[in-house]
Parts: sequence; C-alpha cells; structure tokens
Amino acid sequence: THFGFQSVPEAEKSKHVEKVFSSVANRYDIMNDLMSLGLHRLWKTFTIQISGVGPGDRVLDVAGGTADLSLAFSRKVGSSGQVWLTDINHAMLARGRDRLIDNGFNGPVAQCDAEKLPFPSNWFDCVTVAFGLRNMTHKDQALAEMLRVLRPGGRLLVLEFSKVWGPLAPAYDFYSFKILPWMGQRVANDADSYRYLAESIRMHPSQDELKQLMEQVGLKRVDYFNMTGGVVCLHRGYKM
Ligand code: SAM
Repeated sequence: THFGFQSVPEAEKSKHVEKVFSSVANRYDIMNDLMSLGLHRLWKTFTIQISGVGPGDRVLDVAGGTADLSLAFSRKVGSSGQVWLTDINHAMLARGRDRLIDNGFNGPVAQCDAEKLPFPSNWFDCVTVAFGLRNMTHKDQALAEMLRVLRPGGRLLVLEFSKVWGPLAPAYDFYSFKILPWMGQRVANDADSYRYLAESIRMHPSQDELKQLMEQVGLKRVDYFNMTGGVVCLHRGYKM
C-alpha cells in the first residue's frame, strides 16, 4: 500500500525496523544532530510549544526513543503530572530511560508496540509520536490506539517527515539519497540504516494524506503545520 514501505515486504517490516534501531541506538542522538543540521531540535521545540502541555498533565510519548520529547514534557508537567516514555525497541528505550534518570526524572517507561498500547482508554491529555509513525506497519491501527488512550478533549501530535515544497525537491532528494547514506557510512559505519531512512521518508503519506488518515481513524479538527519547506510536518488532531 502507499502507506507502507516498498522495499521491505510488510511481514518483514517490523523485524527490519527492529534491526535498524538496535543498530543505530548508540549513535542516534549525534546522528540526528548531524543529519538534520540541528534542525530536529527546532522541530521538537515547536511541537512542545504547540502541545499546550502544562503542570499536572498526563502525556504519552509513543516511539519516544532517546526521550527528547519526554524530557521536555517532564519539565513542563511537574510533580503532579506524568510523562510515559514508550518505544518498541529495547536499545532505544534504554538510552531514553538513562537520559531521563540523568536529568532527575524517574520515568515511567514502558516497552510496547504503538499498535497495542498497554494503557486504559480516555487517560492522557496529550499523546505525541515524533518520527515514529513512518516506521509502523499498520499506521491506522497505531493512530486508533493513540486516539483510544486520549481523554475526550485531548490532542494527538504527529511530528513526521513529509512532502517537501516542489522547488526544494531535487536538492532534498540529493541530500537524502546520496549524502545521508554516505554520512551514515562514515559516522556510524552503517549506510543501509540511513538508506532505509531515506526510503521510508519517501514512502510516507503526504500532508493531506496523513490528515485524511487521521480523520478516517476518528480524530477531529485535524490541522497541520509545515516546517522547513515541508521537510517535516506537525499534524494535530483532537478526541471529541
Ligand atoms: N521520538 C524519538 C525522536 O524523535 O527522537 C525517536 C524517533 S526514532 C526515528 C523512531 C522510533 O520509533 C524508534 O525508537 C523505534 O524503535 C520506534 N518504533 C518503530 N516502530 C514502533 C512501534 N510499532 N511501536 C513503538 N515504537 C516504534
């Protein structure tokens, strides 16, 4: 399907994703800075601002990896709130948990699949998924789960790569298909994982396709914000 990932058959995809993130976990943060030229920090800062998360809120960070968002949210919610860091990958989650602890937060942390969240319905004020949806085998199922655990009035934020503005496309393709794998090889000795990254980005739904998918699943008042010419897009939807 056009919501899937072409080069890897669907049944293989989750195994492949597991391998990729176990292999990049060590160098994930430094590679993020390098490959996005530091921009991922701005994209995440914008996400946190738009989230409206404040003291006492309950936040779920799905596919939270090394905890960039969880850390920022933990600072916002204070001791009366809670931020759950979750990810399917043990190596990524272990790094995220260590970072939370190093910064004085205890978690909570849970290893789980976004397609089957171990949380009660109608619980969270805000659910986020940053650069994670792209890797999920059944995006509709994952979105439906995120919607289920939101309380009525709660919001879902999806930060993800998207379709770049036309005139930028040739430069962007060159960057992602030539420079990224080369950097991956030089810095992490792993060109394949970064080739996967570029391909998964290209296969991911466009701004309007993702908006439609979120609406189909039952999210309301869905809107989105392009950043860096559509390299990345933040989608927001509400549970009513
Ligand atoms: N959110 C973090 C960030 O923005 O830096 C990490 C993003 S990282 C590119 C993608 C993460 O998605 C990986 O840690 C991977 O293990 C996780 N992931 C992939 N498929 C998943 C699934 N089905 N359920 C939960 N997490 C998943």
